[in-house]
Amino acid sequence: MNTNQLVDPFGRRITYLRLSVTDRCDFRCTYCMSEDMQFAPRQQILTLEELYAVADAFIGLGVRRIRVTGGEPLVRKNLLQLLRRLGGREELEDLAITTNGSQLATLAQSLREAGVRRLNISLDSLRAERFAALTRRDRLAQVLDGIEAARRAGFARIKINTVIQRGRNDDEILDLLEFAIERDLDISFIEEMPLGSIVTHARQQTFCSSDEVRERIEQRYALVRSSRVTGGPSRYWQVVGYRTQVGFISPHSHNFCGDCNRVRVTAEGRLVLCLGHDDALDLKGLLRAHPGDGERLRQALVEALRLKPERHHFARDEQVQVVRFMSMTGG
Ligand code: SAM
Ligand code: SF4
Repeated sequence: MNTNQLVDPFGRRITYLRLSVTDRCDFRCTYCMSEDMQFAPRQQILTLEELYAVADAFIGLGVRRIRVTGGEPLVRKNLLQLLRRLGGREELEDLAITTNGSQLATLAQSLREAGVRRLNISLDSLRAERFAALTRRDRLAQVLDGIEAARRAGFARIKINTVIQRGRNDDEILDLLEFAIERDLDISFIEEMPLGSIVTHARQQTFCSSDEVRERIEQRYALVRSSRVTGGPSRYWQVVGYRTQVGFISPHSHNFCGDCNRVRVTAEGRLVLCLGHDDALDLKGLLRAHPGDGERLRQALVEALRLKPERHHFARDEQVQVVRFMSMTGG
């Protein structure tokens, strides 16, 4: 085995890391968190130094793209310090953030200057009341201002992420697409995933498949398959006549595991090999027992990769297979 690269037992090379920098958030989206969410004690969360050590080990093993996520990454104190260090790593082809947009009005420019190239901004509704119901926070105007600030800051590409739920926001599919087209943004429509220990609603009733979302878009816009391949659960389509690409993230209706090139590290330093499995390696224990020992960390990662499962097995029922909140794993 080549010990300088991360290759799993199925021959998939890991080049992409999702790094969660906090489990906290200023929103409480109903499909992601409960209102009275219990967060991990601060000492259980990786320090900025530890987060950098993890990223550095992955970069040393061939990871070329890092996405910083959470919880809400932009509520992490001094995050810019970490981003500047990562932004300075020439090996990285991409440094991206997934955010709810609430802090972008003030932070977008600094993020760009730190070296962040791409942003994903979550937006499930353009209607203030509905936005407040879905996120349990009345902040639509703040998020829209954040999106404008991000556009001005000159990111390589900005993508809107929308979780579509039948009866909740599926009547806004075209409005959200047109919002993206008018601003020259990309947009991904996401099927809701069965994560979290509290089932707050009947997922059978709110499930809306990516195929259905696409069919509804195609009643007004022509879509052609895009050549863009991410090694993740997204499949992209080009809106004919516009720059906007539309992604569909479909953990239920399409098995995307075969070309999975990614792993996740939670804010508590657990290495999660697959979103649909509970297996995880505690990197925090190792980091704290052997601070500064990058070689030991790299070896632990190489060995852990032998456990990466071949595929996930989400089922669309009320049973929650993986008792973990998306905000903890980093969506
Ligand atoms: N707070 C940031 C945000 O909302 O963009 C980053 C973390 S959030 C967990 C990342 C993405 O996961 C968001 O686009 C969110 O809509 C999505 N997400 C959260 N829970 C989900 C679920 N149960 N099913 C599908 N997507 C989910
Ligand atoms: Fe927070 Fe993002 Fe989860 Fe919404 S989806 S509660 S913004 S972490």
